[in-house]
Amino acid sequence: MNSASTHKASWWSFENGNAKCGLCPHECVISPGSTGRCRVRKNERSSGLVALNYGLVSSAAVDPIEKKPLYHWRPGSSILSLGTVGCSMDCPFCQNWQIAEWAPSVSLTEITADTPLTLCKNAGCRSVAFTYNEPFTWYEFILDASRILREHGIAVVLVTNGMISPAPLADIAPLVSAVNIDLKAFTPEAYRKLGGDLETVKNTISSMIRSGVHVEVTFLLVPGINDEKEAFKRMTEWMDGLIPQPVLHISRYFPNRRWEKPPTDFRVMEEFAEIAREKLPYVYKGNTGEESSTVCRNCGKILIRRKEYVILENAIDREGRCTSCGMKSPVIL
Ligand code: SF4
Repeated sequence: MNSASTHKASWWSFENGNAKCGLCPHECVISPGSTGRCRVRKNERSSGLVALNYGLVSSAAVDPIEKKPLYHWRPGSSILSLGTVGCSMDCPFCQNWQIAEWAPSVSLTEITADTPLTLCKNAGCRSVAFTYNEPFTWYEFILDASRILREHGIAVVLVTNGMISPAPLADIAPLVSAVNIDLKAFTPEAYRKLGGDLETVKNTISSMIRSGVHVEVTFLLVPGINDEKEAFKRMTEWMDGLIPQPVLHISRYFPNRRWEKPPTDFRVMEEFAEIAREKLPYVYKGNTGEESSTVCRNCGKILIRRKEYVILENAIDREGRCTSCGMKSPVIL
């Protein structure tokens, strides 16, 4: 494993000899020699708060965009995907807990801010996703890399839990083209148990939409965590009030980390999808192995049919219109 970075962090101040971090709503007050809750921002005494994961990569792959998941943005394209270590939440069912916790077994490779551009070009991709762990804990590196990527016409995507304070969000949002944000529950208590903050995540979703970023939302349906239908209904009502309404992915959970309940029942998945469809125009079930389709809301033709990450049918023309009726599709090409 590479040694940790000593790159100076942003969004913090000294407070009585401690470093107070303002990157996310936890606002950790970090004593000298200690790290914040995300494990990757450390108070290095005289040098202040440093971003230990700056320029360190734990995972790199070329993925189908449908895997992020993004269904209404450049369908069928491949995206260079990069992740590091660290997370601002503590979900007991985390699927990527080794990198979220920065487990000793994780090996890291050192890169510079222009490496994502080189890797993206070499892979023949038009976009880069910061994903796998929580990208906002990689804030300084993503900001530097994204400026370079945007200068070269490469789009930036984030797959995030949405835990970022409004001011740092305002700085990074203009660099981002598309985002998938986890909305993990819809009560403050449920969010607190996962180590997050509901109002912050709601603000991130609505701010990203207002900034013109393409937003899709993922709700991982976990038995015993967020399978209370009334709260979910309120969530879809809130999403219905956003303009434009974001795409919703209801994702099937599988046991991992500290959560051992059996995978989400298929019938429960369908019940939640039915509730969501009462309010939202585009609702997809994920991790089910089933096919899913995007349908033209004007003539009913199937615009895109997919199975897992493969596009089986595409009836959208080069201008983004339905090939049957000519209506503008909701999909960004
Ligand atoms: S980014 Fe990390 S150190 Fe900063 S407030 Fe959030 S959890 Fe704490």
